[in-house]
Order: sequence, then C-alpha cells, then structure tokens
Amino acid sequence: MTPDAEFGYELLVCRYAELAWHPSGGPRPAIVARQLGTKERRWDTVVIEVDPAAFAVRRAFGERAIDSDLLHVVRHAPAEWSWYRDALPHPGYPWRYVRRAVHRAAGRDLIEKRRRNNRIQLRRKRPYPDWVDRIVAVENKPDLDRSAADRLADQLAHDVDTALADEAWLATETTGERVEPALLREMPVEAGILATDFSDGVRADAASVAWHPSDLAPAGDERRDPETETLRVEIAERAYGKGWRSYHETMRPDCRHFELRREGRSLVPHCAAKEKVPTARECSGSCPEFSPEPPQWRTRGWPIEGGPGKGFKRVLGRRRERERDRVESVE
Ligand code: SF4
Repeated sequence: MTPDAEFGYELLVCRYAELAWHPSGGPRPAIVARQLGTKERRWDTVVIEVDPAAFAVRRAFGERAIDSDLLHVVRHAPAEWSWYRDALPHPGYPWRYVRRAVHRAAGRDLIEKRRRNNRIQLRRKRPYPDWVDRIVAVENKPDLDRSAADRLADQLAHDVDTALADEAWLATETTGERVEPALLREMPVEAGILATDFSDGVRADAASVAWHPSDLAPAGDERRDPETETLRVEIAERAYGKGWRSYHETMRPDCRHFELRREGRSLVPHCAAKEKVPTARECSGSCPEFSPEPPQWRTRGWPIEGGPGKGFKRVLGRRRERERDRVESVE
C-alpha cells in the first residue's frame, strides 16, 4: 500500500478508536491523537484513556497543550502565594527559564503571579489534575508484508521494553480476508492485534481483536520512575492539544482541490485533482497542483469568516470540541 493510503488508513483508525475504544475491554472514555511520542519512538495513533472528572478539571486550564516547561510550573504551583524558587523544585536547568515559564503560565491564565519585594510570587488557580489513566500506542499497517512485519516487531518490542505506554497494538486491514498468521506470530506476544475492515467506512464494529494485548504497566506496587511519569503527562498534553484532526494545520484546505469526504462515520481529506487521499507532505505549499480557492468563494456564501478552507478548519475544530465534551460527560 502506498504512503498516502497509509495516511488515510491512519485517520480511519483514529476515528475508529474515538468511536469504539476499548476494542476488547468495553467502553472507556479516551481522547485520540496521531504521530506523537518521544525522540526515540513516534507512535502512529495514541489513545489516552482518561478519568472523566479529572479531565473536566484539565479542560478548565484551556484548550491548548501545556508544554513541559509550563507543566513544571503548573503542577507544582502552591495553594498560597510563594516565591517561585521556594515553591518549585529545582528544574535541573537555570532558574531564569523557570521565571520565563512563570510569566508565560500567568499570561495563559494557568496560574496567578505577583511581584513582592522585587520577587516573583505565584499561586495556583486550581490543582493540576491526575487525568491520564492509561496510554495506548497503536501502530497502523494496512498491508502487513514481510519487511513491514519485521520492522513492526522491533518497534513493538521497544514499546514492551520501555513500558512508556500501558498497552501496544498493531492495527492491520483484513477487508474480509484472513490476516497472514505467520506474520502475526512474529509480533511480540504482549502486543494486541486489531483486524480492521474499513471497506464500508468507519463504524464502531469495523474491527475485531485478533490477539489480546497484555498490560505493560509495572505490576503490583512497582511504579514508573518520576521521569517516565512526567514524560507520559507531556505526551498526554500534546495529544490533548493536537488531537488527530490537526492535519489541516499542515495541509492546504485553502486549495480549491481540497475536500473532506465521508468514510462511514469519519471525514477524511481528499484531493479532487489527484483523486486520492493526499499525504500531509504532498498536500503542502510546494504541491505543483496547489491552486488557491478563488477570492469570490470567500464572499459568496462565506461572507465574513473566509472561504471553504476556513470552513473545513472550523468543521474539524468543532469535531474535536465535540469529542472532548463527549469524553468529559462519560460517567
Ligand atoms: S492539489 Fe495539492 S495542495 Fe491541492 S488539495 Fe491536492 S494535494 Fe493538496
């Protein structure tokens, strides 16, 4: 399968996860993002299972991700006014960067700050909640051939070893045929296998579990080290801010050939000029077939807020909001 088909497949898996998580463990509130991870390992699809009440508190901090510098401030901000150097643990880098982060955090209304005797003091607005229950990594491979299977086996083995995620899956397309059992046997036994059939688009029943995953979280009283825990919160924050519909930020919905097409219960980008799902890389400013939407599109029927390109962005943005509302309202 070509890279563009893989990109389209990835979007369908993301939408499926949003509709039907968890594939074998019953419904769990979760947010979904794509192309996230660490320097060493980037996951195709990331599912963050959340505690709905804590997630509601997280949403009170706003819609944007809280990056690692800000997290250091927000997570340790005290209930009472205090000099930031007394209140926050030493970050392992110079304090002046922390001071900058304090200003930034106050500018985003994440904390309160004031100046007393020429010192910056801070106070929290609300405690930063423990909203991340579990992190699940999904590798997407619509066509599982020998070389892809070898690569994936290595990647999933890395996930099993680091246990940064609580669970790892391979999603692969079956379109009615059986998945090649010999290739699946090469995957680490801890990784789950999700057999998808999106030939009729995305529905909650468009996938079945071919192999159940194991829990990768430390067992019993063991805990992850604080660095790994912090990394997990950073990944969850990026997932929260980015979601999986943010492809419109790098693609060209303002091109006259750009469309959103319905695949079952999902919208995926489509290029009318190339008659396919374009990859994020080819649907860019350097695309030779890029053609800006005509100015009259912006004035006829799209009077104030711009043309269809802006409209697509609004549709995708609204869908992300709707999903956040849905996750938060799960009892
Ligand atoms: S022509 Fe190029 S820029 Fe326009 S929608 Fe297609 S891939 Fe994207």
